[in-house]
Amino acid sequence: MVESYRNGPDDGGPKVDTSTRCTNCGSHIDTSQWFPIVTELEEESVILYTFCDDDCLDQWTSMNQSES
Ligand SMILES: [Zn+2]
Repeated sequence: MVESYRNGPDDGGPKVDTSTRCTNCGSHIDTSQWFPIVTELEEESVILYTFCDDDCLDQWTSMNQSES
């Protein structure tokens, strides 16, 4: 377990914060509630894709697959 953040200035980090937006539609996500997250390994970093609901996740997934 890595505990790299504590109470203090929020100057960025791997945690999901209140500025989280839906990757598909851009809506603000209420992070106090459950929401879908897709993680993708891109070379040496992990990319988080967050979605407001399963519909946006489905749309984004199908769009993403048709591109490649
Ligand atoms: Zn959305």
